[in-house]
Amino acid sequence: MTKPPAPAATSQVEIACEHCGHLGVMREAWAEWSVAKQGWVLSQTFDFAFCMHCHRPTRIVTRAVADVPPKPMGSH
Ligand SMILES: [Zn+2]
Repeated sequence: MTKPPAPAATSQVEIACEHCGHLGVMREAWAEWSVAKQGWVLSQTFDFAFCMHCHRPTRIVTRAVADVPPKPMGSH
């Protein structure tokens, strides 16, 4: 079994929606069938992103997991 090199836990990032800040942003990509892995392997990713919370196209915000701000209480 092959394991991808895991990044240090401290450098983990998450992908969030530019509009609502939620995770769960889908990104357009191509997958290629791998006979060796018997599964689809991500081949290429594209810039188009779609937020499952806003239900509209969005832009990806990459942020460190540790930098997640506390949930804002109401709009200020
Ligand atoms: Zn969103």
